[in-house]
Amino acid sequence: MNISEKAKQQVESCRFCWMCRHVCPIGNADGQERNNARARALMISYVLRGTEKLEDAADNIYECTLCGACTNNCKTGWDPKIFISEVRTELVLSGKAPSYIKALLKRYFDKKTIFNGEPADIYGRSEGKDTLFHFGLSAVYNDQETVKKALSLLKNVSTNKEAEDSGYILYFLTGKTKETVEQAEKCAKELNKYKEVVVYNPVELSFMLHQFKEWGIEIKAKLVSFNEKLLELKLPVKKGNKEYTLQDNYAATRELDDLESGRKLIELVGVNKEMLLIHKEANMAGNLIMNEYMHDKMMDVARNRWNNAINMGCKTIVTTNPDEHVMLKKTAPEGYRVITIEEMLIENM
Ligand code: SF4
Ligand code: SF4
Repeated sequence: MNISEKAKQQVESCRFCWMCRHVCPIGNADGQERNNARARALMISYVLRGTEKLEDAADNIYECTLCGACTNNCKTGWDPKIFISEVRTELVLSGKAPSYIKALLKRYFDKKTIFNGEPADIYGRSEGKDTLFHFGLSAVYNDQETVKKALSLLKNVSTNKEAEDSGYILYFLTGKTKETVEQAEKCAKELNKYKEVVVYNPVELSFMLHQFKEWGIEIKAKLVSFNEKLLELKLPVKKGNKEYTLQDNYAATRELDDLESGRKLIELVGVNKEMLLIHKEANMAGNLIMNEYMHDKMMDVARNRWNNAINMGCKTIVTTNPDEHVMLKKTAPEGYRVITIEEMLIENM
C-alpha cells in the first residue's frame, strides 16, 4: 500500500491502548468495536503486513468523520486522521474505494457537487467588493434559508459562486489528490480577489488555514470566522434570560482553538447553559458528506448528541456549522430546538 512514512508511523505507533475508544462519534452511535481509531489503525496495520486486503478496510475507513476526537484524546500524541486520509487516497487511486464513494465522486465530477437540488439563491450580489462571504457547498445546498439569514446580517459583502467549492468535499472523499489540490488552488484564486473573506463554516476555515498552507497555496485575503465577524459588528441585540447551549464544532475547537466566540455571542443575548461534552471534548453532531452515503448512521450520531443535551435539560442548541445544524434539526426531539448562531441573534434584535 502506497502511503507515506508519516502515515505508516501513525499506524505503527498506535499502542492499541483503547484511550480513544469512547470518543468516536460513529462508534458511540452504532456501538461497533470497529468504529474507533484503534480498530482502524489495527486493520491498516494488518493491510501493511499483508494479512488483510485493502478493500476489506474500505468501508471502515469511510466511516470516519475526520472529527479528530481521537487525535485530541490520543495519549501517545498521534493523529489517526493522517493515515485515514491517505488510505482514502490509496483506495480511490487503486479503484478499491467502495461503490457508494465511486458513485458520489461521479456525481461530483458531473455536477460539481455531491448534493441534490439547487444552491441557495444568493449569488449576483456586488455590494461589497472588498469582503467576500464564503459559505461552502455544504451550507448553500443544504441550509439555504439560514444562509440567507446569515447574509442579511452582513452588509456590504459579496457572494461568489466560483469560490464556494474549496476542495473540502474532494479532500474528505479522496484525501490529497491532484484534483483536490487543483480545486483548492481554483478557490484560493477567487478568494484572493478580495481583501477579506468571512468564512461561515469552521470546517472550511480550518481546511483553508491548514491544508492550503501545507500544500503551498497562498491566500492573501484576510480570513475571518463568521463568529469573529458577528462580534465585530456589534449588532443591536437585547439581552434577556433565555438559555442557549452551544454545540461546539470540532473544527472550531480542536483545529482553530476557538472555545469562546460562540459563548461570547450567547452572552450578548441570553444565558449560556452548558451540556455534556463541551469544548474540545464535544461529540460532533453531523456530517453532510457522510449523510449522502450513510444516512441512518448520521441520524444516530445526531440523536446521540441530542441525548447529551437532554441529560442536562438543554432545550435550545445553537450551532456554528451547517452540517450539525441540518442533522440536529432532522432529529430534534419534541420540546427541543436547534438554531444557528445568527438565528439566535436575529430572534433577539
Ligand atoms: S477522527 Fe473522529 S470519527 Fe474518525 S476515528 Fe477519530 S474519533 Fe472516530
Ligand atoms: S489513544 Fe492513540 S495510541 Fe491509544 S488506541 Fe487510540 S489512537 Fe491508538
